[in-house]
Amino acid sequence: EKINVALDGPAGAGKSTVARHVAKAMDYIYVDTGAMYRAITWKALQLGIRPEDTEAVIETARNMKLELFAHESGQQVYVDGENVTELIRSQEVNRAVSIIAQIPEVRQLLVEKQKKIAAAKGVVMDGRDIGSSVLPDAEVKIFLTASPRIRAERRFKEMNQPGIDLDELEKQICQRDEMDRNRVHSPLVQAEDAVLLDTSDMDLNEVVEAVLKLCRS
Ligand code: C5P
Repeated sequence: EKINVALDGPAGAGKSTVARHVAKAMDYIYVDTGAMYRAITWKALQLGIRPEDTEAVIETARNMKLELFAHESGQQVYVDGENVTELIRSQEVNRAVSIIAQIPEVRQLLVEKQKKIAAAKGVVMDGRDIGSSVLPDAEVKIFLTASPRIRAERRFKEMNQPGIDLDELEKQICQRDEMDRNRVHSPLVQAEDAVLLDTSDMDLNEVVEAVLKLCRS
């Protein structure tokens, strides 16, 4: 019998890497919901729209075609037929995404999509509001955290882009967390029935094993 796994937590806690490994081990589909918010952000910026221009952002979100494909190297994201998987990881998108993620209409649109994807079960979904709001009935809910410095270091390594300063990145991650925790609509929060995993002193293998154990129990 397949289940759904909800993985939430702040930026850089290791959600996507952990989710990818867990999905692979269980032969489940991995869904990175952050990439969906990033895709809308990327498209809006591409059109010259400011993230604060709520109406224009909503219009963009409604008119664009957003597709996710499961691939062995990870989830692939397409906007209007273009593969934007790498493009949505830019600093410009990092800076704007949490502003756009505050817009209720944008969230509603994406949450609907996310619920549909998870309806057949067998999904490992990572985000901020999955256990608390998108999939309240998920059989396994995990909230991953780590210290801000460690989260910044992990993001730093995976970004592999020149000209990025670690202190600056840590500051940016903390600002994004602040916005995500304090927004009105489905903020970043640990669901009541979620298991808290602080991964500051754990390596990837240990985290994956801990999550798999919860999935199999
Ligand atoms: O996970 P990632 O860091 O790529 O997410 C980017 C941003 O998208 C988050 O900082 C948050 O503002 C937003 N997000 C969200 N709800 C989700 C996933 C991401 O609001 N379920």
